[in-house]
Amino acid sequence: MLNIIMFGPPGSGKGTQSKKITEYFGLKHLSTGEMLRFEMDNKTVLGEKIRKGMDNGEYVSDELALQLIKKSIDKEIAPKGFVFDGFPRTINQAKAFDIMLAQMNTNITQMIALEVPEEELINRLVERSKISGRGEDQGEQVIKKRLGIYHDKTKPLMNYYQEQNKLQIINGTGLLNDVFGQIHDEIIKLNNKIA
Ligand code: AMP
Repeated sequence: MLNIIMFGPPGSGKGTQSKKITEYFGLKHLSTGEMLRFEMDNKTVLGEKIRKGMDNGEYVSDELALQLIKKSIDKEIAPKGFVFDGFPRTINQAKAFDIMLAQMNTNITQMIALEVPEEELINRLVERSKISGRGEDQGEQVIKKRLGIYHDKTKPLMNYYQEQNKLQIINGTGLLNDVFGQIHDEIIKLNNKIA
């Protein structure tokens, strides 16, 4: 199985690239952000409970994120692998995830991290806020708060996977297709390694 964590700050393009990768390689895309937005759009009990925090740019609990991922993985019948987009987002999630995957006799193959300078991220997120309708993209203050939370809670995951020799950093500033080209080449290498 090819289990890839598509990693990067908000606005780095990880959602767009995840979709391209999953389509190209026939993997399954799992985005906790999309699952949470689905709950909110459908005004479920869970959706209403998390709305205020999400709109403020805060994370949901580790327990909830883990529960959503577990449920989605369990639903799948022997896929070739997964692209995890926006998960894990904290060290606690990553540790619990390693245990969860080991119980399923699998593991993370690689983290692919997109790097984009902060100034460009802010510009991209401001642009996205005009079209996405995402509550968490509204307003420069919320955008800066999200980037701050990313730095404090999420960026340390790069070290966590580096220590396992599973980190690959990719420059996310180029054209969408050029970035995809680099990710594509990396995945081909990985595929050859585990084949
Ligand atoms: P994303 O679409 O990945 O940018 O996620 C959008 C929002 O969903 C984030 O700002 C968080 O509020 C929430 N979220 C998504 N994934 C997680 C996660 N793994 N842990 C905690 N909160 C999450």
